[in-house]
Amino acid sequence: MKELITSHLRALIAQGSLAIRSQFVAKNDVEESQFWSMDPLGEDTKYSPLKGLVRKYDNRVLWKVSYRCAAHCQFCTRARQVGSKEGDLTGRDVQHGLEYLCSHPEIDDVILSGGDPLFTPRQTLRILNGLAQIETVRVVRIGTRLPIHSPASLKTTLVTRLLKRVREISLEKAVYILLHVNHPDELTPEVQETIKLLEQKSTSVLSQTVFLHGINDNVRVLQRLFNELYYLGVRPYNIYRCDYVRGLERFVCNVQTERHIMTELRRTVSGIALPTYVVDVPGSGKLPVPLEFWDVPDITRCRDFDNNDINL
Ligand SMILES: *Cc1c(COP(=O)(O)O)cnc(C)c1O
Ligand code: SF4
Repeated sequence: MKELITSHLRALIAQGSLAIRSQFVAKNDVEESQFWSMDPLGEDTKYSPLKGLVRKYDNRVLWKVSYRCAAHCQFCTRARQVGSKEGDLTGRDVQHGLEYLCSHPEIDDVILSGGDPLFTPRQTLRILNGLAQIETVRVVRIGTRLPIHSPASLKTTLVTRLLKRVREISLEKAVYILLHVNHPDELTPEVQETIKLLEQKSTSVLSQTVFLHGINDNVRVLQRLFNELYYLGVRPYNIYRCDYVRGLERFVCNVQTERHIMTELRRTVSGIALPTYVVDVPGSGKLPVPLEFWDVPDITRCRDFDNNDINL
């Protein structure tokens, strides 16, 4: 993936943060597995009813607002798309998306994703204004990593206007901000202040995290991360196993190690501060992994929602 790093992140790398460096600095000559796909979750094919939408469940849909982000996370599950213009939606694409939701009243939960919805505030505002009109949509979630990539951007006029609208809509529908954060080095004082602002100016903030080999596959690092989020009033929602995307091999951790870390954290971290450990299984969806309190003969084997056998 093409490297893109904000001045905020560059300063943290210059100050010596290896955790930030390994997440954002591009690496040449990475070893790629021939067996891994660029789109293992079938987002662009099997599960896309129309441009921008990914639908795996009856009641909820993911809407990719664009493929643009302020910085490029080298482990991005959508590495195939991030930074490309191809994800830009025209006014008609947005209209079609809204019509799709109107004609599918069983969809009550819309997840704005991308790309980073807060990085394209005009487009996101347009979509939000449309969603506000659809009564059957009861919940809107907005995934973002902008406060981590560029905290100052949260104070721009356009983002401020967007957050104001989020706050208004949150009086009618449940709205959640889903903040992507992976390491305590990301929570600088400026970022913490920005998260507080986000909570005050908009709505509830939850977080999601990806297990990254050599970066956060460690009890102490995650304990610090989840506690700091908890102290900020952010509820850690999920921690994901890194998807098996070609080119991301170096980031994928050992599944036993991940399970062990989550088991340890159950003791040391408050319940509210502990996210669910989840694997997004190709062809199925997000499945929670049982911790070591239960004996599971082979953790690499599971069954999906349709009772199909899956090998991790
Ligand atoms: C993650 C995801 C969701 C949301 O799943 P939850 O378990 O409700 O958080 C919905 N649709 C798609 C395509 C997803 O990838
Ligand atoms: S912010 Fe999210 S979508 Fe953008 S590059 Fe990072 S992981 Fe990918």
